[in-house]
Amino acid sequence: MANVSIQNLQKRFGATTAVEDFSLDVADGELVTFLGPSGCGKTTTLRMIAGFIEPSAGRVLIGDTDITRLPVHKRNTGMVFQRYALFPHMTVEQNVAFGLEMQRVPARQRPARIGEVLDLVRMTHLRARYPRELSGGQQQRVAIARALAIQPRVFLLDEPLSNLDAKLRLEVREEIRALQQRLGLSTIFVTHDQEEALAISDRMAIMYEGKVQQVGTPRELYEHPANLFVAGFLGRMNLFEGGGDGAGRFICKDGTVLATEQGGGSATHLGVRPERLGIHAQPPQVANVLPGTVAGVTYLGSQIEVRLKLEAGPDLVGQTANRGDDGFDATVLAPGARVYASFRAQDSVLFNG
Ligand code: ATP
Repeated sequence: MANVSIQNLQKRFGATTAVEDFSLDVADGELVTFLGPSGCGKTTTLRMIAGFIEPSAGRVLIGDTDITRLPVHKRNTGMVFQRYALFPHMTVEQNVAFGLEMQRVPARQRPARIGEVLDLVRMTHLRARYPRELSGGQQQRVAIARALAIQPRVFLLDEPLSNLDAKLRLEVREEIRALQQRLGLSTIFVTHDQEEALAISDRMAIMYEGKVQQVGTPRELYEHPANLFVAGFLGRMNLFEGGGDGAGRFICKDGTVLATEQGGGSATHLGVRPERLGIHAQPPQVANVLPGTVAGVTYLGSQIEVRLKLEAGPDLVGQTANRGDDGFDATVLAPGARVYASFRAQDSVLFNG
């Protein structure tokens, strides 16, 4: 396995800049996800690393080798696609063998490799079947086996779980992560699903309009989003508009003064995550208390969500685990009830524009 170094990668399609100045290092054995909305350039970046798309500028290195101009089959990357891309007229075993043939792995080594990877993905018993005789999850396991059979230096996955139903998606996700960690595979995983990215990543690169917005561990990105896009894309964020005074206070447009723990003299927005919001029948003795009424309550099974209309300021959403009794004050969970929203200064995040 090797580290991947993506250096100032750029791709233009005519007047469209699909990827702009993308730089990132993936460490040996690390799993990094590219996360972002449709059209932000995730797939284009991955395809430049795999060799299917030629960059307009920039370089990609695997270890010390510059692979930017190498053809796909010489890069030693194993790729898994959203739609499995298996050959319909070949059995499971033949599909895996084909990749080895393309890589010019000597014929005598192939059976052992095929056996090994089919074992890894628990598909040995179905090796003689054709893709049409397999479920979606099984087809994706074969595609993973085919990518791993060539013993790639880097493992690339492009939305590999999108075609699976919710339960199977979780199952295959956990299998991919376990396999990746066991084999110590340097891996890039493209997804537009934030929960999937949080669950599977060592680090994530959040992309928007062809640009990397922030790179970090799931916790870093969720707790300390660098800008409003990251804050809103990864989870939800209640936002107050106004300005920081540079001394730990944030003055909302309507004059409400909120306590924060940051200086933030140039801040234009203050954010609070829904689950960090308290909702009470009586005003609690804390720094930030905002009176309002309950606009709606949504029962989500494991969670309860409350929408609030403040006397002054933006509409807020609060969320709490459904523990039966001690979540939000149960007496206030009725539309129209007068309540007090609160949050701790340390739970606020400041943003500039
Ligand atoms: P999705 O999640 O929908 O797959 P993505 O983040 O992977 O989106 P890309 O497929 O990388 O996004 O596309 C990035 C941008 O580049 C989009 O605006 C897309 O329309 C454009 N684009 C991609 N491929 C081409 C192409 N061959 N010709 C012209 N424009 C393209």
